[in-house]
Amino acid sequence: MKANTKYARRKFLKQAGIGFAAVIIPIAGNYDLNKNRMKANNKMYDVIIVGGSYSGLAAGMALGRAMKDVLIIDDGKPCNIQTPFSHNFLTNDGNTPKEIAALASLQVRIYNTIKFLEGLVTKATKIENHFEVELISGSTFRTKKLIFATGIKDMLPNIEGIEKCWGISVIHCPYCHGYEVRQEITGILGNGDHAFDFSRLISNWTSDLTLFTNGVSTLTIEQSESLSSHKINIVEKEIQGLNHTNGHIKNIIFKDGSEHHLKALYAPAPFIQHCTLPQDIGCELTSEGYLKVDAFQETTVKGIYACGDNVTKMRIVANAVSMGTTAGMSLSKKMILEEFN
Ligand SMILES: Cc1cc2nc3c(=O)[nH]c(=O)nc-3n(C[C@H](O)[C@H](O)[C@H](O)COP(=O)(O)OP(=O)(O)OC[C@H]3O[C@@H](n4cnc5c(N)ncnc54)[C@H](O)[C@@H]3O)c2cc1C
Repeated sequence: MKANTKYARRKFLKQAGIGFAAVIIPIAGNYDLNKNRMKANNKMYDVIIVGGSYSGLAAGMALGRAMKDVLIIDDGKPCNIQTPFSHNFLTNDGNTPKEIAALASLQVRIYNTIKFLEGLVTKATKIENHFEVELISGSTFRTKKLIFATGIKDMLPNIEGIEKCWGISVIHCPYCHGYEVRQEITGILGNGDHAFDFSRLISNWTSDLTLFTNGVSTLTIEQSESLSSHKINIVEKEIQGLNHTNGHIKNIIFKDGSEHHLKALYAPAPFIQHCTLPQDIGCELTSEGYLKVDAFQETTVKGIYACGDNVTKMRIVANAVSMGTTAGMSLSKKMILEEFN
């Protein structure tokens, strides 16, 4: 059995032309999309996973390997889409987000227990003891259990050029990109307590650091003194925009016409859930805006699990994969025991 599986896998990899070519297949590439859709409408899936990026794929793999019938639906908009290189994920450090996702997708596609569908889920409903999801196309699919691996959306401030630089030179996390811009001329965009804490953290990566509050500082006198004692400047001028080349920041331009040269700008942004499906079906949020889950990744609605960025501030691919695997393992175990009884 083991040998057969190995053989089948090798054959699959060979047929798929894996090697370097494999990693350039886009995550949302569904070559048998219509075939799957025709079949899918008529069946009750064990699990539907909404969101097929890192956490959704990891959940899918754990469930598919437990021989659960899984449908992964994804509309191809992961939050790190614009980042040229992803770091701090063991075995994939420095690869592009697309490469990591494509290889993950390819490995999950080996399991014939898992089907894929490209599309936007617009509605999820609980019907007696199962769930139904509806796509923007109008297609509906039924499932015994549901996983939301839907991620979050960053709400960038209204500053000219910031979107183009997001993930390239305007960054959210030192653990993802700090090493690459260590000891560079660096800025932080923020204000108040959070900006104070963040400035202290980022001082580990560079000694040339300025905090841009984009208006009057709301830091306490003690906080301002603490930063200046560590040679962290505070600039309160209002920002007009960012001058950049292909997302690589050169200067911050202020409303008064002056400029400040920079190589990197940390801009930890507020966020919203990527979609409101979980809240619409009754999943509760924490006070910080994440989906509430227990240690097994089950939300406050029985039978609905969540994993990845939508449940945690520890936002990193390794963690999204870990939580997806936990969700897949614990949900499959629950289903196996339910069926056994
Ligand atoms: C700019 C930036 C740079 C980053 N750099 C790094 C890095 O260097 N290293 C690192 O480890 N981490 C990095 N991260 C963090 C990392 O990208 C996330 O932790 C990870 O992507 C989370 O995976 P996820 O599966 O939870 O969500 P996502 O990757 O965001 O995927 C969510 C998926 O769900 C889909 N979806 C949502 N709603 C629906 C719906 N209704 N219907 C269908 N599909 C839906 C979306 O289209 C998307 O494909 C970065 C993040 C950002 C924003």
